[in-house]
Amino acid sequence: MIGILLNDNAYEQDIRELLMAFFPGRDFVYEEIPGLELCLVGRVNESRNQFRMQMIFRGDHSTLIWGDSPAEQWELDHFDEPVFVDYDNRTEAKNKIKRRLYAILKELTGKSLPWGSLTGIRPAKIALSCLKEGMGEREIFDFMKTNYFASDEKIRLCVEIAVKERELLGKVKELTLEKPDCWGIEKGYSLYVGIPFCPTTCLYCSFTSYPIEKWQGRLGEYLDALFLELDYVAAKAGKHPSSVYVGGGTPTSLPEQELEKLMKKLTDTFDCGKALEFTVEAGRPDSITREKLQILKKYGVTRISINPQTMNQSTLDRIGRRHKVEEVKEQFLLARELGFDNINMDLIVGLPEEDAKDLKQTMEAVKALAPDSLTIHSLAVKRAARLNTMREDYKDYKIINTQEMIQMTAQYARDMGLEPYYLYRQKNMAGNFENVGYAKPEKACIYNILMMEEQQTVIGCGAGTTTKRVISGENRIERAETVKNVEQYMERVEEMIARKERLFGEELS
Ligand code: SF4
Repeated sequence: MIGILLNDNAYEQDIRELLMAFFPGRDFVYEEIPGLELCLVGRVNESRNQFRMQMIFRGDHSTLIWGDSPAEQWELDHFDEPVFVDYDNRTEAKNKIKRRLYAILKELTGKSLPWGSLTGIRPAKIALSCLKEGMGEREIFDFMKTNYFASDEKIRLCVEIAVKERELLGKVKELTLEKPDCWGIEKGYSLYVGIPFCPTTCLYCSFTSYPIEKWQGRLGEYLDALFLELDYVAAKAGKHPSSVYVGGGTPTSLPEQELEKLMKKLTDTFDCGKALEFTVEAGRPDSITREKLQILKKYGVTRISINPQTMNQSTLDRIGRRHKVEEVKEQFLLARELGFDNINMDLIVGLPEEDAKDLKQTMEAVKALAPDSLTIHSLAVKRAARLNTMREDYKDYKIINTQEMIQMTAQYARDMGLEPYYLYRQKNMAGNFENVGYAKPEKACIYNILMMEEQQTVIGCGAGTTTKRVISGENRIERAETVKNVEQYMERVEEMIARKERLFGEELS
């Protein structure tokens, strides 16, 4: 357990995230209690131009006693040199405090982090902003090195991705220039449709997803509510999204009749054929049939995802996916046979009990299938996942993720002719690494870039979706969410629509 004692909480989250990166899996408390293994004390002075940090720790993990207890009991580490900051200038103060804290923690633990003091989820966005400001690649490299202490390898990856993103974003600009502005949205918008059902729930899942069996009798009701939202969006934002992404959940969990109804509605309501891409997640192979793939094809879906996560049967069983490795191969080949020429596969590094040997086996099996794009995730155990909520039951599982394993996946991707094109990080990731999307030339998922780099407004419809309005002139994002609970969503869909109305209602100045 680690203590964080601050006299002002303005930068608490930044400090905690960096501590979490150095000390994964620890709990944090904000008071002096017995049993702390380490305590960070941070004080901003009255004139708010100096911030001092002090680390207090004790090797034997015994009770921390403050106040009258003799300070000699403690091995005190003073890092008393203050950080000079304009405490109220958020970006500057945050970066300075994190740089100092990183240096302290590096000295204390002897560890360096691949991403240095960067804890945000969009490191490539920094490189992309630098490119937009006219900086050269070498200049961006130096900037990220000096400001964040990230490793050479991670910075190079960021810069490579930012260059690719800039090229792809140019296409979106061309497309949206032809379209009239609707709903005051600058730069057009992309549409996300959430189908929150899956065959079963994976152990690590934190998405809005419910086992479809329980909702079989009420899927029509869900679609009716969703269609109200879609009609509203088309009327207000126009019928020309730059990209359409149907995710969830697993949309292909819907029975054929409902899937057809959804596809018909989408293509009747929006000009999906003119979008830069039309993606449907067919993530779980146990949700796919020939007929469903034919429906997707008939309505012009250009990109699908068939996600093995791992090609090791024992792991699939362990994480609750209840499908066979063979099914992944069969469904992939079936999709190819039916003419899908842009198939993505998602994999996860760090699944319970998997090591480098297992990962290699997965990469070999995936290489043999030759997908058009690959997204390599590092396992992130989020709060809502069973792997976290039932920690006691799963505490004996080994979670292994190393730099070598991440490098192995990158090398396989390159060997398969895939280049990195988008990148993001999550909190609580195994090994504190990142998720990277790789694609063949012309097969990158533009929606992923738009959404992750917050380059375009994304309108989300369906339970558990988020609409993000990008106000680029002000470098600001505003959000409206829909409720995750399906029952609530169906009952309160008018309210979900009103939330969108409020988000876009105000005129842009
Ligand atoms: S397939 Fe994805 S959305 Fe569905 S339960 Fe598994 S992790 Fe969650």
